[in-house]
Amino acid sequence: MKTKFDSYCLNGIAEGCKYCVRGEKLVLFVTGVCKRNCWYCSLSNKRKNKDLIFANERECKNVKDIIQEVKDSRATSAGITGGDPLIAFDRTIKFASKLKKKFGKNFHIHIYLPTKFITAEKLKKLSKYVDEVRFHPAFLIDENSVDKDIEKIRFAGLFWNKPNIGIELPLIPNKKRDVLNFILKIKDYVGFVNLNEFELSETNFDIVTKNYKLNEGGYVVKGSAEAGKWILEQLKKEKVKLNIHLCTAELKNLHQFKNRLARHKIFPYGKRTEDGNVIYLVTDGKIKMKNTFYDKEKKRTILSEEVAKKLLGKRKIMRVEEFPTRDRIEIESEEI
Ligand code: SF4
Repeated sequence: MKTKFDSYCLNGIAEGCKYCVRGEKLVLFVTGVCKRNCWYCSLSNKRKNKDLIFANERECKNVKDIIQEVKDSRATSAGITGGDPLIAFDRTIKFASKLKKKFGKNFHIHIYLPTKFITAEKLKKLSKYVDEVRFHPAFLIDENSVDKDIEKIRFAGLFWNKPNIGIELPLIPNKKRDVLNFILKIKDYVGFVNLNEFELSETNFDIVTKNYKLNEGGYVVKGSAEAGKWILEQLKKEKVKLNIHLCTAELKNLHQFKNRLARHKIFPYGKRTEDGNVIYLVTDGKIKMKNTFYDKEKKRTILSEEVAKKLLGKRKIMRVEEFPTRDRIEIESEEI
């Protein structure tokens, strides 16, 4: 079944995905370090195997920075990811507990966990603060890991209810049968499956461009969504009761990201565009006038329309369109 946010699902989608689609999830990247080295990994060179912390686009040094990003992005929830969050386990627990303490127990937290370092003890500690757990099994890189993966994922049933236990995998077209078989084997121990349309990344670029064709647009692997739809059909025939979601690149770009931008705080006198970007009228440096706002980081003054009109011809005034996010990447700028 096609969802209204351009993805496909059988039965329904996981709770964590609902927040994500609405753009309400903060992506909390607790470390880029991971001992798995999956050939299909989606991390960028800037993050892969680097012990860095990011909350959305904001590089963070401490909990204070993370809390600031929750406020600026108006997030109501967070998805903890990496790397392998279990490699930075103490940090993961600290961040999850602080987020719950600061924003309350309804601040939904899900976590992405490669199965490599899972123990029942670690899951028990996580379950105090984490509402939903998404395992990334290893069988796509090691076909002998299936039983070990299942054994570890089963521990989660001791600490979470089934609807809050799931698996998350990329949809590699020629691996669709392996994915289907794994789902059929694990189905009694989890409540949902999230399958991501397979995308090109900096770190999988060589291997993907050598072995796969790409869709028009050049970053989504051809046949990936079709493989996902095939899996959904097979599971429907088998009358599998799990919530299965095929999360498409379109969902991420046209809905999740756009919605996240639209929620993000903007500076005074900014105007939001339909795409979720923001337009500012600015002039370099600091000017002291009513109805202006000094943007310290970019060393520019943001002007109201009236002030911009008054200053036309006296100062260089730019119309700048940019993302409202922490990196505030400029999309367009022109002198007016
Ligand atoms: S487990 Fe996840 S983060 Fe680690 S290498 Fe594999 S895809 Fe990348």
